[in-house]
Parts: sequence; C-alpha cells; structure tokens
Amino acid sequence: MGVRRRIGGFVLKVNPILCDGFGHCVELAPDLVRLDEWGYPIISPTPVPLSNLAALESARYAVRGCPRQALAIERVADVQS
Ligand code: SF4
Repeated sequence: MGVRRRIGGFVLKVNPILCDGFGHCVELAPDLVRLDEWGYPIISPTPVPLSNLAALESARYAVRGCPRQALAIERVADVQS
C-alpha cells in the first residue's frame, strides 16, 4: 500500500451577497482572511496547497463557523509551489 499524496490546492471563497461583514472568519482563519475597512473579508485568490493541513483546517473552521454560510472551499487542480 502506497502513501497517498495530496495534490492540488484550495481557495477559500466568500459569497458577498450572503456575507454580513461582521468578520468572524478572520478569527477562525487568520492566516487566510483579512478584513477591509468595513469588516468584509478579503481572501487571497492564490490557491493554497492541500498539503498545507493547518491552512486547510483553518478554512474548514471558517466555513463551519460562518453564521451566514457565506464561505466555501473550492478545490483547484493545479497549484504553483
Ligand atoms: S464569517 Fe461569514 S458572514 Fe461573517 S464576515 Fe466572514 S464570510 Fe462574512
């Protein structure tokens, strides 16, 4: 049995229509999210490698913790390393 490698990456996406701008996500995923001057999340569009398990866990926390279900994790096939 071989070791399964995690290939590809993910991007945390926000639905701006659903987002209330209270900024809870920055507390749950501070390495992925920063806030603009009105409290709305700014998330880098650059994919994060799936091998970055800490970032992936943070993204999952943010998705689960978003009170408006405005966040989603989008898988990306190719990631620049
Ligand atoms: S936690 Fe959800 S609703 Fe709140 S600012 Fe972040 S994305 Fe928007």
